[in-house]
Amino acid sequence: MSGVERAEPSQRGESSPAPGPRIAAVGLASWDRFLVVGHYPSAGEYAVVAEEASLPGGTTTNTAVALARIGARVSLAAMLGDDAEGRSLRAAMAAEPGIDTAWLATRPETRTDASTIVVSADPADRTIYWHQGAALVRRDRLDLTAIFDHDLTLLDVADAPLRRWVTDLPAHFAPRTRLLGTMTYLVDTAEPDALEVALRFDALVGNAREVQALTGERDLDAAGAAVVAAMRGANLRTLIVSRGREGCRVCTGGETVDVPGFPVNAVDTTGAGDAFAAGIAYGMARRWDWNRTARLANALGALATRALGGQTALPDRQEVAALLGAPEEVVFG
Ligand code: ADP
Repeated sequence: MSGVERAEPSQRGESSPAPGPRIAAVGLASWDRFLVVGHYPSAGEYAVVAEEASLPGGTTTNTAVALARIGARVSLAAMLGDDAEGRSLRAAMAAEPGIDTAWLATRPETRTDASTIVVSADPADRTIYWHQGAALVRRDRLDLTAIFDHDLTLLDVADAPLRRWVTDLPAHFAPRTRLLGTMTYLVDTAEPDALEVALRFDALVGNAREVQALTGERDLDAAGAAVVAAMRGANLRTLIVSRGREGCRVCTGGETVDVPGFPVNAVDTTGAGDAFAAGIAYGMARRWDWNRTARLANALGALATRALGGQTALPDRQEVAALLGAPEEVVFG
């Protein structure tokens, strides 16, 4: 190098963006195989496959990539299988500059968790066939002190004993930790104390079907009210419900607010909920108000639907700012 030293941005008179928030994401890494059909066949009938794809996916991995693309610094804790998909997923995560893969482990002699996803144009929806594989469980070693030492911890694990254990700890030895929980696995494993575990998070995110399953209520208004009633005296402060193209609903102890979504030409909604959760995690980590946080989450969810795959269309800061109609420094500043 020449003797001329490179000036740091501040010396050059440019403003350097603040470093992104530090977020620990603990959960599931999966590989997705897509079949695109014009319409779903009835049982016993057939559908012509118009397109196939094999892509990185997984709820927590999708959220981690969404966060990294908008500038968060993500520590990803997940379990891969000992196979080609596991190696491809690891390479995909390592290729994201904002993701630290030091806690991405491999389970020997186990296949990587995977999904076969059938995407249909009519109706515009997708159906998931889950090939369960490697996943973090209670006996795996997790450095919880280091995990809780982030601006926010996102917990998205499928193993109920692990979820119960992690949600029980902050109250005892890391009371300043902020914990965001997802509902997908919490309700799908049908644990009898799912609501009690849900109340241990600081905030809970999921779709309308999940919050209805969590509470046993048949409509979203009643389900939201049931969670708000249960929040009294509990750790949980906020419930955020994603609602597809309509946007989302934020329920706190004091009020319930609907935040409209952004119109987008949706190609595949796989991973929209994971991108949405990334927006919630980002806003919480930055301590934004709920309206600003929900708008970012709606923008990420909408933009994620633009292409086939859970990670393909995840936007960068510029794309988010363009959708929100404001300069990047204003949106993320
Ligand atoms: P999930 O995939 O978990 O069921 P949703 O379908 O509710 O989650 O999508 C998550 C978020 O993504 C929504 O709250 C919304 O902000 C955004 N989103 C999803 N689908 C669309 C769509 N068709 N148009 C605009 N935004 C969408």
